[in-house]
Amino acid sequence: HAKSLGKARYAIFDKDMQDQSLKRLVLERELRQAIGTEQIFMAYQPIVTVAEGDVVGFEALVRWKHPEMGVVRPDHFIHVAEETGLIVPLGRWVLEESCRELMLIRQAMPGFEFTMNVNLSKRQLVQPDVVDMLVEVVENAGVDPQWIKLEITESVIMDGQAQVTVVLEEMRRRGFKLAMDDFGTGHSSLSCLHQFPIDVLKIDRSFVSSLDHHVEFAAVIQAIVTLAHTLGLTVVAEGIETMEQLAVLQALDCDSLQGYLFAKPLPLQEVLEFLSAPRSYMNSA
Ligand code: C2E
Ligand code: MG
Ligand code: MG
Ligand code: MG
Repeated sequence: HAKSLGKARYAIFDKDMQDQSLKRLVLERELRQAIGTEQIFMAYQPIVTVAEGDVVGFEALVRWKHPEMGVVRPDHFIHVAEETGLIVPLGRWVLEESCRELMLIRQAMPGFEFTMNVNLSKRQLVQPDVVDMLVEVVENAGVDPQWIKLEITESVIMDGQAQVTVVLEEMRRRGFKLAMDDFGTGHSSLSCLHQFPIDVLKIDRSFVSSLDHHVEFAAVIQAIVTLAHTLGLTVVAEGIETMEQLAVLQALDCDSLQGYLFAKPLPLQEVLEFLSAPRSYMNSA
């Protein structure tokens, strides 16, 4: 009896596996077809200063408006893009579009020196021509590389792979700024932080949400901020959703903030509206 039960279980397991790989194949095919069409577009989430709440830049976040599924968030397809290598052409398009739209934002708001954060996957970093690609794209767009902050996750940077470190150094030599993304999610060791060629530290959303239940956690964030400042880094906290979190982070000397409390990621037209509308979340804090 046990044997036949085992068999039945295997059969179910196999069926699930088949469904999964079928779904993946369909997703891959659809994504391949979507790249280069209007289905793929960018949203930009404002990054604001702690002190004044002024918008200083944006993070570029890719979106896919699937014909049946609606707007699909990157967590559902970036991993497929990475595994299949589609992230290479998609990533180039993301940078091109973000540069083009950064220029439109800057033209609409003369006098503001907005920057644009663009996420880079490991798969992109290890392309032999990645630095040439970056330089070519910004030059074509008329964008100064200093306006672009390349976000690379903590785990990829901390890996310490010689190939990665060499590329990061080359990017900085060419004028790009580098941000360590999702700090606190990997095996981050504060004692390693000084070894990496970065300009910005982004404290992960999970650290910010920890504040809700553990006020003592503020001391941990404070230690990170202090060390980062000693190393000459700017600190951005991600995922601020509540006024309570804002109040704590304001007291901790972070430099800038990003989160739904200020704005969700917005398509270009809404970014322009957001920038021209008065805001008051800081005053009421
Ligand atoms: P990430 O780089 O850490 O981006 C921040 C994510 O947090 C975004 O999710 C953003 O919408 C979300 N977020 C911001 N503020 C809040 C908040 O207050 N509350 C909550 N709950 N979430 C908040 P999104 O856009 O779904 O992107 C997920 C991840 O996908 C990104 O994490 C990044 O790793 C990756 N990704 C997005 N766009 C690109 C891209 O163009 N290229 C690459 N390589 N990866 C991308
Ligand atoms: Mg990011
Ligand atoms: Mg992040
Ligand atoms: Mg993240």
